[in-house]
Amino acid sequence: MEAQATTISGCTILPMTGSGDVIESGYVNVRNGAITAVEAGEPPAGGGGTLIDGRGKVLMPGLVNAHTHLYQVLLRAVWEDMPFLAWLKRIYGVAEALNPEHALAGTLLGCLENLKGGVTTVCEHNFLNPGPECAVAAVEAISRSGLRGVFARTIMDTGEIVPDCTKETPEMAFTRIEELMARQRGGHPSSESDRLTFRTGPNTPPINASPDLLREIRRFADHHSIGISAHVAESVSVVDVTRREHDREGVVAHLKDFGIQGEDAIFAHSVHLSPEEIAHLAETGTCVSHNPVSNMMLGDGIAPVVEMLAAGVRVGLGTDGAASNHSQDLFETIKTASLLQKVKHQDAGVIDPYSVLRMATIDGAHVLGLGSVCGTVEPGKRADLILVDIQKPHFQPVNDLFSQLAHCAKSTDVDTVMVDGMLLMRDRQCISLDEDETLLSARAAREDLMARVSTA
Ligand SMILES: [Zn+2]
Repeated sequence: MEAQATTISGCTILPMTGSGDVIESGYVNVRNGAITAVEAGEPPAGGGGTLIDGRGKVLMPGLVNAHTHLYQVLLRAVWEDMPFLAWLKRIYGVAEALNPEHALAGTLLGCLENLKGGVTTVCEHNFLNPGPECAVAAVEAISRSGLRGVFARTIMDTGEIVPDCTKETPEMAFTRIEELMARQRGGHPSSESDRLTFRTGPNTPPINASPDLLREIRRFADHHSIGISAHVAESVSVVDVTRREHDREGVVAHLKDFGIQGEDAIFAHSVHLSPEEIAHLAETGTCVSHNPVSNMMLGDGIAPVVEMLAAGVRVGLGTDGAASNHSQDLFETIKTASLLQKVKHQDAGVIDPYSVLRMATIDGAHVLGLGSVCGTVEPGKRADLILVDIQKPHFQPVNDLFSQLAHCAKSTDVDTVMVDGMLLMRDRQCISLDEDETLLSARAAREDLMARVSTA
């Protein structure tokens, strides 16, 4: 696929550059994968390239899914109504059956669902690695989908509930991650390899990461100038283990001992934090992915999002994997994030729609280290854009565009998706992936995987 010159005209433009910034009717020019003009009115005649009629639609930045496990779409609604650690043991057990074909088919379906719901950047927090091939397959799937990706290839080296086949020594894991990065950089044209960045991290410290591993991860990440992604303080049970075994008040305090913090670190969940830990996240610039639907599904609790935002912590939004969501619908997550904080604080005005939309766009981009690349619609940024069709009974009439995008819009309202200037979906028809084939392969992969899991 090659990025073509494109002009999208006649649309309402929501650039997400400020709460008052809305262009009622305007156009956006895209050249060589970048946004070159964002203007009110009609485009000048004779611009050339593809012309897209955006009338009746809202053009906004593509959504940023700051935390997910794409292949888990194969595990929707398989294990539910279980305590967190018991559920996690079942998820880890999948490593004994997971092969690269499952990883490829599952990740492709996960990408398709994200893409059709208006997500243009996914952070894949990858953690089941019974061999090096599953991560290779997952990277291949993201690459094929055309989505912008952050591939956080994490490591587990200990833990009673972690099968031996997916435990790695730091050296073994680092070699595999270096091979993965070299393969991606060497095997693709530069525009494709630039669309994917890598991270590492402990998966769910401290229950599956030894102190030695934490120390080595910081060193490895610094050496390669890559970021870190970790599940942090997701449940009370994880905080209890931290207190009992490491004599620290919480997971953030424990990670601080090893330098796991800072602007290059994403702490997914961050549900159970002390006020001191929130202050520490703010002081160090550590970023958070808030995953409210997953937290509700697993009964984990409500993250202190309002408190984190007030302290100056950068917070993005994630769906988490479909094994604990059970979808990849980020518009649903936006609405849930907004409503959940109102419930928690019993205050309808505690969070405003624009702030929640920021979390799903530009703040999410910053969380992933991509704040200068995407997340807003302005000249110079890469063209990661979506058109949302608002001529729908559940959206009309429009009184407050921000509130209605946060609370009325549905993933199925997304009409057109562009990443890096390439059209990945138009009129809800996916261009980069064959939908029928992707569904068929995923169904076959699920059948094979579940047959193996039940006998594993
Ligand atoms: Zn997760």
